[in-house]
Amino acid sequence: MIHIRSREEIEIMRKSALMVSATLTEVAKLLRPGITTLSIDRMAEQFIRDNGGIPSFKGYHGFPASLCISVNDIVVHGIPGAYELKDGDIISVDCGFYKNGYHGDSAYTFAIGNVQPEVLQLLKITKESVFKGVEQAKDNNRVGDIAYAIEHFTSRVNPYGVVRELVGHGVGRDLHEDPQVPNYGRRGEGKRLKDGMVLAIEPMINLGTKEVYTWDDGWTVSTKDKKASAHFEHTTAVRKGKGEPLSSFAPIEIAETANIELNSSYYTLPAAGVLA
Ligand code: MG
Ligand code: MG
Repeated sequence: MIHIRSREEIEIMRKSALMVSATLTEVAKLLRPGITTLSIDRMAEQFIRDNGGIPSFKGYHGFPASLCISVNDIVVHGIPGAYELKDGDIISVDCGFYKNGYHGDSAYTFAIGNVQPEVLQLLKITKESVFKGVEQAKDNNRVGDIAYAIEHFTSRVNPYGVVRELVGHGVGRDLHEDPQVPNYGRRGEGKRLKDGMVLAIEPMINLGTKEVYTWDDGWTVSTKDKKASAHFEHTTAVRKGKGEPLSSFAPIEIAETANIELNSSYYTLPAAGVLA
């Protein structure tokens, strides 16, 4: 069943969603070559708990960490561990924050040092594609309108592979609720959207083939061709005029830019605008 949230509920959810953004902002400040993904996860869990929240992912169907950290060809659900980030990596960081009975869910993909221009472009387009979906998340539209907008922009206007096995979702009292929100589909099809629905819109976009496989650990999902994959996600409320992201990339972007300048000795700065 698809839940309709009151204004009050949406404001509580906004707080949880913005705490995910705050957590990802703290992650952005830490990122540099040499840091392990486990240490990023530990910091994030501490930050979440210090702010009175519970990490939504920890223990979810047995997931062992607070963040999903997915490096390079890993699409989603990467398990933090001993891996040390290195120059040229990208990492997708997915985070959930639970407080006052509601979850927030958001993800962001970061570049570490000198990342290939074609991969930076993948990040830029995947981030933009979230907003193509958000624009369609309005009353009386259908889930297929969101799906089509993301698929069209990423795989027709741009040449990328759209992951099909994993989809966005309703979010609220449970981390994953109805409806499913795929990143591919047809306009005018699927469940009808109503004011008060809250959806996690989360394109997972591959530089190469759309094909993916799951590791023996039962979690980690990688691209079949080992090419890079990007993931951005906003918890989004359906409103009359248009979709309204409850999470925010703005503080993450500020920290990301500051971190690049702080660590500029590691690498040459990308050309202006590439990270926009
Ligand atoms: Mg997520
Ligand atoms: Mg999600």
